[in-house]
Amino acid sequence: MSTKLANSNQPMISINKVSKFFGDFRALDEVSLTVDRGEVLMIVGPSGSGKSTLLRCINHLEVPDAGEIMIDGKHVTPKERELNAIRAEVGMVFQRFELFPHLTVLENICLAQQKVRKSSRSESEKIARSLLEKVGIPEQANKYPPKLSGGQQQRVAIARSLAMQPKVILFDEPTSALDPEMINEVLDVMLTLASEGMTMVVVSHEMGFARKAAHQVVFMDGGTIVEQGTPDQVFGAPQHERTKLFLSRIL
Ligand code: ADP
Ligand code: MG
Repeated sequence: MSTKLANSNQPMISINKVSKFFGDFRALDEVSLTVDRGEVLMIVGPSGSGKSTLLRCINHLEVPDAGEIMIDGKHVTPKERELNAIRAEVGMVFQRFELFPHLTVLENICLAQQKVRKSSRSESEKIARSLLEKVGIPEQANKYPPKLSGGQQQRVAIARSLAMQPKVILFDEPTSALDPEMINEVLDVMLTLASEGMTMVVVSHEMGFARKAAHQVVFMDGGTIVEQGTPDQVFGAPQHERTKLFLSRIL
């Protein structure tokens, strides 16, 4: 009982002095950050600033060399047994969708439910169909991903991550591989998730989304957090030269 109460007050994601090296190159330099339950955190920054590396450390696709990361009060550790649990709790949506081309849309959404959650076929299909309704493409269930538009594929990828009932979803430039006319159909799904209280970390330069949904914006450069605040603070009144320069290039 008391543990439950304590847990609900903890941040959903807690990152404490995380560093990551690739050889001698320091991709992350003592990054600390917390994300509360239901919070939408947006990460912006130039290419190579460490945004993807930070997301990949959060779900342990990369192992930090120093520091610690906690999800919902539990350490993200390299133990195999716990890793599967973490991956189920932390969904990830990539720039290039990463769907299995030889499986139907429905099978893509069912796969992890059956393999990780050990759900039955009928149970996982029921969930998959309801998620396809949610992302607005129920009619695509039996098609193969290469037959879908980029926007539709990304919505399938979001449905697939939702199927694991994650506590957190990480989005790594989810709209940057899309044709302009498909960006909003993906952002609209993300706005719905945000309004439903999903905890989200979003690497994206979509300012409209940031202003509508982000509670917190972080500007990264050179593997560090240079500046952090509300969207109005970071975009409207940036304090650091590096932030101003970056924003002047993307706005
Ligand atoms: P961003 O997502 O902000 O563009 P990344 O996190 O992908 O940046 O990369 C940060 C830096 O780390 C870049 O200089 C990149 O080249 C380097 N890097 C990322 N992954 C690897 C890797 N697996 N091996 C070597 N260097 C890497
Ligand atoms: Mg990246």
